[in-house]
Amino acid sequence: MSKERSSALGTDGRGGSNAKGRDGAAALFRDGLENNNNNSSSKKRLEDVVEKSSPSTSRGGIGREKERLAPSTSAPGRRLQPAIDGRTTQDKNRYQAEEESNTDTEESDVSGSDGEDTSWISWFCGLRGNEFFCEVDDEYIQDDFNLSGLSSQVPYYDYALDLILDVESPNDNMLTEEQNEIVESAAEMLYGLIHVRYILTSKGLSAMLEKCKNVDFGRCPRVYCSGQSCLPMGQSDVPRTSTVKIYCPKCEDIYYPRSKYQGNIDGAYFGTTFPHLFLMTYPYIKPAKPTQIYVPRIFGFKIHKSAQ
Ligand SMILES: [Zn+2]
Repeated sequence: MSKERSSALGTDGRGGSNAKGRDGAAALFRDGLENNNNNSSSKKRLEDVVEKSSPSTSRGGIGREKERLAPSTSAPGRRLQPAIDGRTTQDKNRYQAEEESNTDTEESDVSGSDGEDTSWISWFCGLRGNEFFCEVDDEYIQDDFNLSGLSSQVPYYDYALDLILDVESPNDNMLTEEQNEIVESAAEMLYGLIHVRYILTSKGLSAMLEKCKNVDFGRCPRVYCSGQSCLPMGQSDVPRTSTVKIYCPKCEDIYYPRSKYQGNIDGAYFGTTFPHLFLMTYPYIKPAKPTQIYVPRIFGFKIHKSAQ
């Protein structure tokens, strides 16, 4: 029934999502990080940020969204820039060619996002900051049983679901611009809430295993964890409580993701259970505990307990 009642978002509706609030929120986040000792105040700010940034990360973000959608996203290019400068023109050209082809392979999902052959799900997972999400199977989403309870949590549920599944209908132009934006942010939230369930299924766990092997979730920043590949998780299963964190299976602690874009994603889209169920499912992924512990020293001497 709902399938016929589709939204107007087939292709051109992809414009407006995700961007708003991320930058502002990220700035606040950095502040929060710097003042970490000052726990209560930074925590409060964090809550403000979470409140502001989700769930409608979307509204009014069309300009920034274009930037995010631009095919050759600046990240890889920028990294290569200093090397390019010191080279001859010929080298430079070759380098740029390589750079372009790298960009193509790394970001093909993003660049192919004019909506023709890319599904909403691939497009969404290819956006900068959404690297932690795996692509949920269409089949999983089409089974109403898997979505039970979500319709009451997400506004414009039917439209959002149609958007996620790329269902188009003659009613496409029924929604106003503003409604479209709401539907888009609703679709993001709905996808997140489906995602947190999906990654606990065997297919979802295996999709996340591939991403873990690719180090898509980043590495543990702790020196003695030697670049251990981490797993995404939430500190709460209730949406809009806290942002996503990464869990290191080696030191068994949690950290902020490195990217400010990733740092604004709702932790409830990954949940509190995922990393631990994942490690029980694939026990060989779990590394040995770290053997080295950092010892503070002054002029080479350990600090005596009495001095602390
Ligand atoms: Zn670690």
